[in-house]
Amino acid sequence: MTHSESRVAVIGGGVTGLTTATLLQAHGYPTTVYATALPETATLTQPPWFASLHAAASILPHSVASSHILRWTQTSQRFFAALIDEARPSVRRQRHYELFEDPPVSDPDYRDVVSDFRQLSAADARALGAPTRDGASPSGWCFSIYFCEAPPYLRFLESAFLELGGECRTDSALPDPPLMAGYLALDHQIYVLCAGQASGALLEDALASGDFADSPGDGFVPTLDPFGGRLIRGLYLSVLLKEPLCDREGRAFSYNYTPAHSTYPAADGGSADVYCYPRRVGWLLGGSREVGRVDCSGDWQGLPGEVSRLSVRGVSGLVPIPEPVLRLNGELLRSTPLGPDAASVFASADLSRFVAGCGFRFVRDSDTEQVRVESSRLSGVSEKVIVHNYGHGGAGFTLSWGCALDVLSAVARTRSPEASQSGVRGGTLADSLRSAAERSHPLRAPGAPADRVGNVPGGGTR
Ligand SMILES: Cc1cc2nc3c(=O)[nH]c(=O)nc-3n(C[C@H](O)[C@H](O)[C@H](O)COP(=O)(O)OP(=O)(O)OC[C@H]3O[C@@H](n4cnc5c(N)ncnc54)[C@H](O)[C@@H]3O)c2cc1C
Repeated sequence: MTHSESRVAVIGGGVTGLTTATLLQAHGYPTTVYATALPETATLTQPPWFASLHAAASILPHSVASSHILRWTQTSQRFFAALIDEARPSVRRQRHYELFEDPPVSDPDYRDVVSDFRQLSAADARALGAPTRDGASPSGWCFSIYFCEAPPYLRFLESAFLELGGECRTDSALPDPPLMAGYLALDHQIYVLCAGQASGALLEDALASGDFADSPGDGFVPTLDPFGGRLIRGLYLSVLLKEPLCDREGRAFSYNYTPAHSTYPAADGGSADVYCYPRRVGWLLGGSREVGRVDCSGDWQGLPGEVSRLSVRGVSGLVPIPEPVLRLNGELLRSTPLGPDAASVFASADLSRFVAGCGFRFVRDSDTEQVRVESSRLSGVSEKVIVHNYGHGGAGFTLSWGCALDVLSAVARTRSPEASQSGVRGGTLADSLRSAAERSHPLRAPGAPADRVGNVPGGGTR
């Protein structure tokens, strides 16, 4: 096996690709990441297709459905706990409120995988200083979640991967064009596809090249996915506030709040929710979960909604923010014990203080299995293995380590690591990642018996 053939190729440099590459590298699989964009540089333009740049990055399974979702979430939590033990500043734990004006009939499926879960009546919510609206009596839950400061966390992943001895290739070091046939012509045996919404198109190109044939069997599945993909557009605002948002118990918190249907109707007939995720360098106010596609001219095609829009300045032009995102969040935040800077922002709701963003969450076009983590085999000049890892919707950070561990298991079934684990570079971080992996049954196969489906009351794909 040549030097590069022995390296695992990870295609994609978002949270999925960087997490997967870091875990493989920490387990002695020399890995190269190929990415058309990496977080550091793409942050300047924030293209909507680069989902990781837009995440609120709460570790909570939103806007995706999979029968493995709870297992992946739990596994990821072990890794985030290990990163907190390592004192990595871009990960923390905080209180999170989920409140509803029309309360769901049952607790969420994720109830047993989050800690400190507590049911809240409207009176509890008001006593705690949780967000509420005048005249409404929202009830719901609060609990503790992990939370990433997304841009610094992505930078941490990239530098951790490089410190462990990984390689990143971008721009002129990519095949031209950067499509799967070009990648397969490189000297790798194992490819992990983590290209987010571009993943499906890459695979079609690989088979169309005619140099390789799909070769399923022995645990390998067909390369092409029977499902197409769909996007869930998220529109949000950020505002430069450095103070934490704290409730009356002095706990820093974030929230998702679902008003009555008529207040913020979603295009699919349900109620949309709004959220606030305070970060150290600015607060994120969302949101929207609009299902649609991008047409060949690059324009968004979604279900027409009834909601009115505000044109707010974004990094690359005006963004059509649903008007309730500003109005409802302003109203909700004014009911909480705000610090003076935030109070002045939300008292005036001066649009020039906000910057708008737009990102696409990508899922498979299925109601139950929207994430794809499994292996395919292509035979041709030489045999190549593709491990799929995409379709994480609104939960790519949440599922990142859980899915990466399944990829590690798939790679381990194909090949032994090159370095003994004690010979892996990276010191304590590599040790922490390996010990979190050991605690999470690393050799459990993708396709092993499923967990419960769904993540939020009423269907699990909010
Ligand atoms: C508004 C919003 C809020 C969200 N909030 C949360 C949240 O609170 N919690 C949570 O867990 N998740 C959240 N998400 C979801 C999360 O952001 C995504 O699931 C996750 O970022 C997907 O990561 P990814 O690495 O798979 O894809 P991406 O981040 O889209 O990265 C794709 C990568 O593939 C590369 N690529 C594409 N084509 C090629 C090619 N041909 N060759 C090489 N590289 C290629 C790109 O350059 C990029 O590096 C949110 C998303 C949005 C939009």
